[in-house]
Amino acid sequence: MSEHQFDIGIIGCGPAGLSAAVNAKNKNRDIVVLGAEICSPPLHKAPLISNYLGFPSITGEELRQSFLGHASMLGIEIIKSKADNVFPDDDGYLIISQGRMIRAKTVIICTGIPYRNTLQNESDFLGKGLGYCATCDGPLYRGKDVAIVGYSEEAEPEANYLSEICSQVYYLPLYKKEPAVAAKVKVVRERPLAVEGDEAVKSLKTNKSQLPVDGIFIVGAETSPERLVPGLELNENFIKVNRNMETNLPGIFAAGDCTGPPYQLSKSTGEGQIAALNATKMVLKMKS
Ligand SMILES: Cc1cc2nc3c(=O)[nH]c(=O)nc-3n(C[C@H](O)[C@H](O)[C@H](O)COP(=O)(O)OP(=O)(O)OC[C@H]3O[C@@H](n4cnc5c(N)ncnc54)[C@H](O)[C@@H]3O)c2cc1C
Repeated sequence: MSEHQFDIGIIGCGPAGLSAAVNAKNKNRDIVVLGAEICSPPLHKAPLISNYLGFPSITGEELRQSFLGHASMLGIEIIKSKADNVFPDDDGYLIISQGRMIRAKTVIICTGIPYRNTLQNESDFLGKGLGYCATCDGPLYRGKDVAIVGYSEEAEPEANYLSEICSQVYYLPLYKKEPAVAAKVKVVRERPLAVEGDEAVKSLKTNKSQLPVDGIFIVGAETSPERLVPGLELNENFIKVNRNMETNLPGIFAAGDCTGPPYQLSKSTGEGQIAALNATKMVLKMKS
């Protein structure tokens, strides 16, 4: 683990995260920005934006490129690596991101609309046969049958790994591209609906069949806020914040769609700015 401690760790590189990054950089803060492969899938998909001040008619992709260009002009680098967990650390937080450990005095969460369950009764079976990390929990299913629901290609190595230790691996891709998985993995193009079982997982119900399995992994979905930061207070599914964009955990701020509706660009960039300015204030207080 690096000993270096950033002033602000920003999780998410959509409009909220990039606005937080630009504002923090303008305040001369030492920042780190973590993002997924595409910064802001919603903006990438938006055909026409007509309500963002100063841009009466612009496509989402044009605006997205302009946001990224602004950040890049300031020398802001985006680490394309999802944050998995945030834990308290000496006078700050430790962000775990796909094996990396990053230290930051404060953290701004800008992860977009929170993940909603893929399967109807998913939370009832969490830890009872259902999980989100096949490589972590795989050994528990040695010689057994499992299903992996894959949101993106990043789930494929997990399916391949499980095929080496499990008896049968069903792979349900939720993307169009043909998955490149080991011959032993059975690709099932069906829509996963619900978990069946009493105390533990017994099968996965899909729109067409029932797959008898002992374990189910959902891989590559967005991380829900409460899984990302244990102890974070939510309001329904959204991160609860005050007007300073502070959460219930000191030093952790949130901004953008993850704090709730309206899901709009100006709200997201505005909240990103408020969060960055208040995180900056906190860092300067810590230094004095
Ligand atoms: C089709 C469409 C049209 C729209 N049109 C308009 C419009 O006309 N006007 C308007 O104001 N708004 C519009 N919106 C809404 C607008 O795009 C969103 O409000 C805005 O993108 C929210 O910004 P955000 O930064 O909060 O979240 P997002 O843009 O969702 O960005 C969040 C980022 O965080 C990343 N992330 C998530 N989890 C992690 C993690 N654990 N680690 C690292 N990174 C993570 C995600 O991959 C993503 O890149 C539209 C949305 C859609 C889908």
